[in-house]
Amino acid sequence: MLRGFYVLLLTLLTSCQTWRQLNFYSDAELASIGAEAFAQVLKDGNHKVISSGKEYEMVQRVGQRIAVASGKADDPNYQWEFKLLKADGIPNAFCLPGGKVAVYTGILPITLNEHGLAAVLGHEVAHATQHHGGIRMSQAAITSSIIVVAGAGISITGMTDLQKVACIGALGAAINLGVTLPFSREHETEADLIGIRFSIRAGYDPWEAPKLWERMAEISSGVPSWLSTHPNPLDRAAELKEAIPQIIQEERPNAPATKVAVVAAQQDGVIL
Ligand SMILES: [Zn+2]
Repeated sequence: MLRGFYVLLLTLLTSCQTWRQLNFYSDAELASIGAEAFAQVLKDGNHKVISSGKEYEMVQRVGQRIAVASGKADDPNYQWEFKLLKADGIPNAFCLPGGKVAVYTGILPITLNEHGLAAVLGHEVAHATQHHGGIRMSQAAITSSIIVVAGAGISITGMTDLQKVACIGALGAAINLGVTLPFSREHETEADLIGIRFSIRAGYDPWEAPKLWERMAEISSGVPSWLSTHPNPLDRAAELKEAIPQIIQEERPNAPATKVAVVAAQQDGVIL
């Protein structure tokens, strides 16, 4: 009986748009949480913050252009910062809510040029503008509240509706494999596609994005995509190749699909 209830809840949750978009936090709260966490990351000082040189300047240039392209450059809830951290062994970047972005030096050999970096920063900025951090934190709050509820031995009939929804956590691994991780992958795909829009608007070549993911595939660990929070790099490259012509059409309807962004970049004086 109870098992049937959980299965029903799981079915509802996996098809529930509200759950996927659930966000308890306002933009101002997210900005404040993001800024605090970012300051903490920088203060912990595991990686030196690089504040001069060609690579630093490139990160600032591309980051600011992407921030403007996102339409959130003047939004007080987004205080954009693009930090370059010295970590040659980390091929990654991240963005915290409110526009706090870090790029590790280890990703620069994979991004290879400004267009590749624009693909990465477009993706990271899209996570912030789409409130993915707030949604993740809200989902985490619910899934952790269930553990408290289960631990306290409260009966299902004594729970609030929210707690009942949270009860899905009793399925343990299922919440990771069936609910949390796929939503995260969904966010990754959404960030890829919106990030491409930002990079086109900023004048960069969107076709560098699939090339970037193909290069990433060469160094990735081979975790099966269904078990990973990130889609397989080659799957991402394939999805992007399919989506880019349509996105270019939508963003720059009068330009030929393959040339548009490169031409725009050259006109804007971007180094290729
Ligand atoms: Zn991501």
